[in-house]
Amino acid sequence: MLNADFVIDRADLVATCAGPAPRRGRDQCNLGAIRGGSVAARDGRIVFVGPADALGRQVAVEPDAVRLDARGCTVVPGFVDPHTHLVYAGDRRDELQQRLAGATYAEIAAAGGGIARTVAATRAASEDELVRLARTRLDEMAAWGTTTCEVKSGYGLTLESELAQLHAIRRLDAEHPVDLVPTFLGAHDVPPEYRGRSDDYVALVVHEMIPKVAEARLAEWCDVFCEEGAFTPEQSAAILRAGARAGLKPRIHADELAASGGARVAAEVGARSADHLVFVDEGAAEALAAAGVCAVLLPIAALYLKLGRYAPARMLIDRGVPVALGTDSNPGAGLSSSMPFAITLACFAMGMTLEEALVAATLNAAWSLDRAEAVGSLEAGKLMDAVVLDGDLTSLIRVGRSPVRAVVTKGRLVVSG
Ligand SMILES: [Zn+2]
Repeated sequence: MLNADFVIDRADLVATCAGPAPRRGRDQCNLGAIRGGSVAARDGRIVFVGPADALGRQVAVEPDAVRLDARGCTVVPGFVDPHTHLVYAGDRRDELQQRLAGATYAEIAAAGGGIARTVAATRAASEDELVRLARTRLDEMAAWGTTTCEVKSGYGLTLESELAQLHAIRRLDAEHPVDLVPTFLGAHDVPPEYRGRSDDYVALVVHEMIPKVAEARLAEWCDVFCEEGAFTPEQSAAILRAGARAGLKPRIHADELAASGGARVAAEVGARSADHLVFVDEGAAEALAAAGVCAVLLPIAALYLKLGRYAPARMLIDRGVPVALGTDSNPGAGLSSSMPFAITLACFAMGMTLEEALVAATLNAAWSLDRAEAVGSLEAGKLMDAVVLDGDLTSLIRVGRSPVRAVVTKGRLVVSG
C-alpha cells in the first residue's frame, strides 16, 4: 500500500498529459484524461493518479494529509513557462501606447526605447532590487498556475550585470515555490557601447561571458536573439556553439520579426528549442522536425507587438515539430504572464486545439527545458505540481476571469482561490 500526505480528490477530469515527451504531430492532442480522477502524493512526489474509486484501495492517506475536494473541477499539470524575461528593472509600458499610435518595434528602438532602455535601468539596479521586482512577477505567474519557469538574463549586456541577473535568478529559485530554469542571454542585443562593432561584442560573449557563466554554474542554457539589428545567423551559431562547448545547452530566439534564418541555425547547432517562429517557412519547419527541435511559440508577444500575424502552429504540428507554449513575459511586449492566456491565443489565433495547447503548455514545455523527467505531466514519480481549475477544460480559454482554484507545487498548496 502506498502512503500519501496530499490528495486532490474526485476531480471531474484529470488531464494527466502523460508522456512520452515530447508529443508531436497527431499525438500532440493526447491528454491522457481520466474522468472522475484523483491524484495523491507523498513528500512532494506523485504516488497515484487514477480513478477516484481506486484511490482507497491503493493508497493509505495519512490522517493529517491535506485533502482537496475537486468535485466540479478539472486538474491539469502545473504549467511550465519555457520563455520569460522576468528579471529586469525599469518600466516601458508607455511604449505600448506608442505602438498603439502606430510606432513599430524598430522605430521605438531607434528613439532610445526597447531593450536598450531596459538595459540602462537594469544596469543601474542592485541585485536586491532585481530580486524584489521579479518576486512580485513570479507571484503573479504562480497565481495563473505556473509552477516551473525559464528565466533569461539579457538586460545587463556586461559581464558584471549579466552575472547579477543570473545571481538574482538563483536566489529567486531558492526562495520561491515556482522552480526556475536559468538561461544566459548575453546576446539579447548589441549594447550601445558596441553599436557598429557587433563582432567585438560577440567576441566578448564567447571569450569572457560564457566561460565565466559556465564556471559559476549560473545558467543551464545559452540563448541568442537571431534577428536583423541583433545578431546574424553566423554570429548566433558561433555563440551557441561556444555555449555548448562550455556546457550551456542551446536555444534561440528565431524568426520573430522577419525570416531571419534563426530556425535553420537551431537545426544546425542542435538547439533544444527555437522560439517565436512567427515567420518560419515550411522548409525550415522540416529542418526543425528532422533535428528534433521544439518550437516554443509565444503568441502573447505577437499580440502586444501588433505583428499582425502569429506563428504557423498548425503547419509546425503537421510537419512533426513538437510545439510548446510560453508567455515571453518581458517589459516591452510581454504584458501578460498568464499561461491560460497563451493557451487562449494558441487556440483562437494559431489554430491549435485546446488539447494540443494544453500539452504545449505542460509536457512539451517541460521537454523544451529538459525537465520532462520531473514535471509537465501528472504521473507517478514526478513532482506534485498541479493546477485545479474551476469547471471544465474550457475554463482555461475564458479571458477576464482566472480559472485557477488552487495551485500545488511539490505537494504544497501555494495558491488557493
Ligand atoms: Zn524572448
